[in-house]
Amino acid sequence: MAILKRNLWTLFGVILLFGLVLLGTVLFFRWQGIVSDEEQYQTARVELVAQSVGSILRTQELVLDVIGRELLNQNDMLSGTRQIPFLDSILAVNPVLVGFGLARPDGTLVRVSTNLDLVSLPNLRSDPATRESFMQALSSESMVLGRTYFVDAMGAWVIPIRKAIRSEAGEVIAVMTAGMRLDGANSVFSKTLHDGASDNVMLLRETDGYVQFMSAEGVAPQQYSQIRVPRDEREKNRAGFEQELGISVEEVMRAGESVVVRTRQRGDDYLTAAIYNKRYELWTISETRFAPLYREFFESLLQYVLAFLVVGAAFYKGFRIIDSAEKKRRQELSYLSRHDDLTGLLNRTGLLDRLADLLPEKKPFCLVVVNIDNFKGINDRFGLETGDETLLAFSRRLGELVESRDDLARLSGDEFAIVTPNIDLEAVEEACVSLASELSRTFEVGRLKLHVTASIGVACFPDHGDSLSKVIRSAHLALYEAKQSRNDVCTYRTEMEMAYLRRLSVEQRLRYGLASGSLYMVYQPQVNEAQKTVGLEALVRWQDEELGFVSPAEFVEVAEKSGLMVPLGRFVVETSIREYSLLRDVIGRSIDLAINISVIQFRQPDFVDTVLKALEVHDVSPGELVLEITESLFMSDFDKVLKTIERLRDYGIRISMDDFGTGYSSLSLLRKLPLDELKIDKSFVDTILEDEKAANMIRSIIAIAQSHSMELVAEGVEQEAQVRALTEMGCRRFQGYYFSRPQAVDSLKADLALANSG
Ligand code: C2E
Ligand code: MG
Ligand code: MG
Repeated sequence: MAILKRNLWTLFGVILLFGLVLLGTVLFFRWQGIVSDEEQYQTARVELVAQSVGSILRTQELVLDVIGRELLNQNDMLSGTRQIPFLDSILAVNPVLVGFGLARPDGTLVRVSTNLDLVSLPNLRSDPATRESFMQALSSESMVLGRTYFVDAMGAWVIPIRKAIRSEAGEVIAVMTAGMRLDGANSVFSKTLHDGASDNVMLLRETDGYVQFMSAEGVAPQQYSQIRVPRDEREKNRAGFEQELGISVEEVMRAGESVVVRTRQRGDDYLTAAIYNKRYELWTISETRFAPLYREFFESLLQYVLAFLVVGAAFYKGFRIIDSAEKKRRQELSYLSRHDDLTGLLNRTGLLDRLADLLPEKKPFCLVVVNIDNFKGINDRFGLETGDETLLAFSRRLGELVESRDDLARLSGDEFAIVTPNIDLEAVEEACVSLASELSRTFEVGRLKLHVTASIGVACFPDHGDSLSKVIRSAHLALYEAKQSRNDVCTYRTEMEMAYLRRLSVEQRLRYGLASGSLYMVYQPQVNEAQKTVGLEALVRWQDEELGFVSPAEFVEVAEKSGLMVPLGRFVVETSIREYSLLRDVIGRSIDLAINISVIQFRQPDFVDTVLKALEVHDVSPGELVLEITESLFMSDFDKVLKTIERLRDYGIRISMDDFGTGYSSLSLLRKLPLDELKIDKSFVDTILEDEKAANMIRSIIAIAQSHSMELVAEGVEQEAQVRALTEMGCRRFQGYYFSRPQAVDSLKADLALANSG
């Protein structure tokens, strides 16, 4: 079916061709039918005419023979000349005959019917008009027909008939002669044997080619001599007939059966049927012109062609309808395959097609990739429907903001692209910045008022990539950078390429590192105001054979983005708890073990169980464990996170908010969250001495912690003065190089055991 649809017009062509062949075949048989009907009609007619002519002539021959013999039976019949009234009575009953005469073999008429004047009658043997047939009659056993001629005495056209009367020895005693009337009411042959102007029936004499009788439109006996076919022409015609018939004319004459041939005469085609009468050497010929047949055929042809055209047109119309429906369907499919269902914008394929048009002409353009920040959070919190509506509202606003000459597309779930011919990077960046700020206006989705932000990456063709895939990649690298740096807009720079390659190799080596054991844990002590170690923060380390030392800040992020965070997190939890348990045995007292937990780990359904299991296996009580989380955790489904936190706390595990003060909505979050500890971020501690703002920030964090009865830890303490300042503000717990760098478990064992004993 699909093949047919694709080759619709070929199919139409085939049907048309088939129709033409069918039309040709039908017409061919129609023509054959017309001709064969005509042949049958001609044959039947010629046979009928020949038969009746034969029987008339036979009758007349009998009449001549009987009368002749009757006359000879009378005495002295051949002497003197006389009119015989008895003959008149025979004429009266046989009106086709116009007169009787009995002639001696020397040609002298001796007895005649009374309507003939004996004096004016010529000698039949010497008169040129009668001589030939008379001589023929003398030598013939049967009746002989003379040429049709006009008898002045009777004012009539007649066919002379003569029959020799023989003695028993076969000697000719006399010749009985009569005339058969050709015109008038008593004509021997009907003048209406023919059928219209194109048709004729005739009797043709074999001996001299003269017409004996003819039934044709407008042909009277006067014309017979003109129609005569001369001998040489007859011979020529016969050669043609013989070739067509496949038998000789002699055979046809001998057989006495009808034949049909096509002839060409006087510039016209004829169908000719003929049958030969041997006895009277007479052809009965029926001729009809092909013209009426052509006309009949032409009428059929017109009808068939008309029907063909009507059916063909109907088919054509049908095919046009199918074709246009198919074209429309293809266009729709093509449209659908190039457009996004939800927003109606171009999709990735559609955009690639559009860009592919620009590439060969090397027309420069800028590709702007817009990605909604943390769109997953909206889906998780409000459901997919709200997510879709947000996307729609976002795409509409985007559509209003881009210029009409630009192409707008939705590349994937929360990612859009703008292609603009504007290649003035500064202008594009400026436009993107205002675009980002416009997009960050509140969206009203149903009853919700959503605040959405977007990150934007910009790359240009051909400066930032000489192929489509390169430009797209460059724009994505810029987008990645924008997300990382929390800038709204980033334009591609070559360093991003390096960073990307670095990330790739970090990811690759980390995968290997997790399997080969090149990762290990170090622990940074947390001390109280008496500088006694009261806790440890577990920090992961990685010394790779190829990359050397890689900072956790770098590879943890790579792990989070590449699916490696789950195994990495499992390693961290398992190793830290195990090593802590050994350390505790050595130092002989429990302290806090703080482990950093990534969002990804937190989202694992079996996360709580994994932690509990590790605690159980290594005989560490949940009360000794602190899990450090960051605010990014609450960007995803808040309720779910809250439930996990509550579950952990139910077991007695404490939750600490790491890097507090650097996130988005710290204060509002705190009110809703059951936290046990806040960690003041190193960035505030760093500037506490010189920056009043930082000092104020720390003061308010401490106040919040105190009001919510939360533990406080100051991170990144490097100087004594910072310790003093923090202590003054009310902070009682510290972590930083000032007290100790993160250390391997073995060196810690020694330090802490020493401190214990000291
Ligand atoms: P963080 O959780 O805030 O960890 C504290 C970071 O501050 C550690 O860096 C630590 O070495 C550093 N630090 C502590 N005191 C000082 C100081 O006085 N001066 C300076 N300059 N730095 C100090 P580190 O180990 O490089 O870790 C960086 C970040 O990587 C961590 O920040 C944490 O977010 C992440 N990370 C480290 N280990 C893990 C881990 O096992 N799991 C997870 N999920 N994240 C980890
Ligand atoms: Mg931490
Ligand atoms: Mg921190």
